[in-house]
Amino acid sequence: MNILRKLFGTNSTAKVNTARLSHNYPSEFYPWENVDASRNDALLQAKNTLDPSIIKGIKSCPNCGLASEQLSWFWFSSPQEDWDALAGRAGWMSVCDACHIQVEFLNEIMS
Ligand SMILES: [Zn+2]
Repeated sequence: MNILRKLFGTNSTAKVNTARLSHNYPSEFYPWENVDASRNDALLQAKNTLDPSIIKGIKSCPNCGLASEQLSWFWFSSPQEDWDALAGRAGWMSVCDACHIQVEFLNEIMS
């Protein structure tokens, strides 16, 4: 019994390690269609200025490891229908263009 417990103890530690190696990360916070709409909205981007200190040393790309500071950062605002439904969100989002992954979303405004 003690041996089994020991074995299971060892197994549960191994499971944690395995989980960390799997690609178990969200590849998107929002549909790409919405993300690209914000990113390509020149007026929206011009209205918001990124403070480089808030993105320093935070989440890097979970796939290729590109550092936070080297990812593409832009202001994201969810679609108008989300705001109308009091479910709007806006904030800074980072994307790894090479891996096509939405890495981080720093939510600053909620309706
Ligand atoms: Zn990447």
